[in-house]
Formats: sequence, C-alpha cells, structure tokens
Amino acid sequence: VAWNTAINLTAVREPADLARRHVVDSLAGVVLLQSLAIRDFVDLGSGGGFPGIPLAVALGTERGLLVDSVGKKARFLEAAVDVAGLAGRVAVAATRAEALAHDAAQRGGWPGVTARAVAPLAELMELAMPLLSPGGSLVAWKGAALEGDLAAAVRAAAGLGSGPPEVVAAPVPGASGHRLVVVRKVAPTPPGYPRDPARRRRQPW
Ligand code: SAH
Repeated sequence: VAWNTAINLTAVREPADLARRHVVDSLAGVVLLQSLAIRDFVDLGSGGGFPGIPLAVALGTERGLLVDSVGKKARFLEAAVDVAGLAGRVAVAATRAEALAHDAAQRGGWPGVTARAVAPLAELMELAMPLLSPGGSLVAWKGAALEGDLAAAVRAAAGLGSGPPEVVAAPVPGASGHRLVVVRKVAPTPPGYPRDPARRRRQPW
C-alpha cells in the first residue's frame, strides 16, 4: 500500500480488497502446484509480487525467481522478498522474460513457471517452455474469457514442446470466473524460442 503511492503496482487501493484480489487469488494455485510437485518456480511479470510471493511463502520455496522488466517494480520486489522472509531463497531479476529464457544458466532449469495477467496463453507458453525442465509445468492465472486464448495455445503447443493446455477451476471464493491453466513440457523446445516481441506480433500463433 505504501509503495503503491509512488509506483503503480495495482489499481486496488483498499487493504481488504488487496488481500482478497491479490493474496487469496495467488494462493488459489497452492494445491495445484503441490499436486504437480512444484516447490521451486519462476514467476514471470511478477509486478507487485503476485502470484509469486504468496506462493513462495505457502510452498516453502527453496529456489524462486521473480521476474519483471520494469526496474522500479523489481526494486519493490526485492524489498517485499525481504519483509516476507524469503531472502536467500527467492531472487529478483529486472529483465525481460525473453532474455531470461535465452540465458543458458536459466534455460531448462525450472520445474515450474507461474504468470498472472502478463500475456495471452500462447505467448506465455513461448516464454515459459524454454525455462522449464522436462516434465515441468507452466501454471497461468486466467479470467473467464479464455476461448480465443486456448485456441491459439492449442496451435502453439506442439511446436514449443508442450502438451495441450488443461483448464482447472480456481477454488477462490468470490472469484468463480477465475481459472488456472496448466501446460506441461513434454519435449525439448527448439532453440529459436522465444522469438522477440516484434516477431511474435508479426506471426502470432
Ligand atoms: N503478475 C502481477 C502483475 C501483472 S501486470 C499481477 O498479477 O498482479 C504485468 C507485469 O508483467 C508488469 O509488471 C510488466 O512490467 C511485466 N511484464 C510484461 N511483459 C514482460 C516481459 N516480457 N518480461 C518481464 N516482465 C514483463
């Protein structure tokens, strides 16, 4: 709430609303991630730390990475990681997901990738599949209008080494339209992915 007056982290201003719409919504993924045996993960486009920070606390994450391309958001994330008691276990990268996914030290090294309100599902798959280890999963927080998103994701899947997207109802009271989508990495991702944003715009899935 204090940082939100200086940098725009969320349009939600009221603490109880923040708790419900951001913290509880983030925690909606805990049981699913546990069922996928994911404790360590990268949160792409973490912004105000959602869903990454609540998840890291709840899952007991040993190795986490919160990614945001905007430097001042990354600085907020570093402060939030500290006060949440996650220092030394969760790191922050002020970088674009595209650059991270082409970094040999990160590529193929993660059992899980999460993302909420960052990009259409096919684009998230293009960013996440390269980061995942074989058998790892992307878990994306999505709203109600999902059909167009899913159609493109189905077209994208085979070329990226991913299985088909699976939609799971998110068990959040008061957010019945929210869904979680799981996409599993089933084969290696070709080295040309992710493409840069301009090429993704010219050739959408
Ligand atoms: N996940 C948070 C924030 C969503 S807003 C939440 O649900 O509340 C989207 C965030 O993703 C922004 O902070 C933006 O800076 C970041 N972002 C968008 N595209 C990105 C990319 N390609 N790489 C890294 N961060 C990105």
